[in-house]
Amino acid sequence: MGDGCDASDVLLDCDAGRAMGCHSFCCRLLVRLDPDERVRPADGSTAKGFVDKTPDGRCVHFEPETGACAGWAERPRVCRHYDCNDDPKLQVVLRDGFVSLVRLVTTPIPAGPPRRVPYRRRRPATEGPP
Ligand code: SF4
Ligand code: SF4
Repeated sequence: MGDGCDASDVLLDCDAGRAMGCHSFCCRLLVRLDPDERVRPADGSTAKGFVDKTPDGRCVHFEPETGACAGWAERPRVCRHYDCNDDPKLQVVLRDGFVSLVRLVTTPIPAGPPRRVPYRRRRPATEGPP
């Protein structure tokens, strides 16, 4: 999510995705943290299971000026494995724009052939199409 999203050897071309109009919607989704990624606060309270959001609903690590992730090297596992081409919400955003998360999850998937964000690298042929 954010700026070149990888899963195995796949690297989405997020610059191309943003040019297509993805609006980096992935960085507005809930970013869950696996138990081993959670950091217990110094006061001993329960560690959060998700990444905080800004008031406008973006991940706190998202840089609106560049569309990049400020914590790219340490980004959560879910961000490393997320592939918006597998997410029907991509089709909503590319065709209708991004209005809100509520709109995103309540709008029916548009008909027609899916629009796909290109990859900079692809999975090995043995794994089939991404
Ligand atoms: S929506 Fe897709 S193309 Fe756009 S930033 Fe997120 S993962 Fe990259
Ligand atoms: S950690 Fe980075 S890649 Fe993940 S949602 Fe936040 S800004 Fe996007």
